[in-house]
Amino acid sequence: MTYDNTHLVSDYIRYVKAVQRHLRYEAHALRFAQALEIRVKIGLSNRCHTEHPDGPVMTVQPWHWGNSDIVRHETAHVLLWWSGLEAEIIEEYGEELGWKVVENLCNFTISFLKITQPMLDSAVLRYGQDAKVVRHLQKIARATPQQALLRTVYDDPNGLCAGFMTSGKYIQEVAQCNWSLPFGWLDRVPEPALWFPDEAKVSFARINSNATLGMCWG
Ligand SMILES: [Zn+2]
Repeated sequence: MTYDNTHLVSDYIRYVKAVQRHLRYEAHALRFAQALEIRVKIGLSNRCHTEHPDGPVMTVQPWHWGNSDIVRHETAHVLLWWSGLEAEIIEEYGEELGWKVVENLCNFTISFLKITQPMLDSAVLRYGQDAKVVRHLQKIARATPQQALLRTVYDDPNGLCAGFMTSGKYIQEVAQCNWSLPFGWLDRVPEPALWFPDEAKVSFARINSNATLGMCWG
């Protein structure tokens, strides 16, 4: 074993960001894939053949063709393979668990491919370290609240940041980067603000009538 997998996610985030920088932060899924010379074809299922002798090729169902999260997910497979980290994952976790890790990582990557660094940086410039950043990113990138939350929390793998979303009185989503929230996924937390000490830098933003988003930076 030569590679320490505890750095895997942060190494992958850095790699994805470097590729995005190289492509001048193209956020359109299909244009991004094509700029990487990934062939995108129409097919009956969504899949990716990274090791094709003529270069990577993905097939997507017709209704996912274009600027879609499916194209981003399949592109993430190619990036993960190119980065060499896919092989490390399979070696460490084996075929069965390893491919689940790969799938989760590729789903996670959608938020990075959709919400680029300039989008995030300008949102932070505008709102500061505030939950409004997440709501703003959700709107401008047409992302889900979950995607905007993940993208913001994991932006700096060395930073301290955490966020959560409620659904009614329950915690629906948590994201934690080197920082532990005082509650977990599916916990019943009617008043999240009461769980934080007064000096905590926690901010809230309303997502809809039933959901609130909370963010804290270290
Ligand atoms: Zn996949």
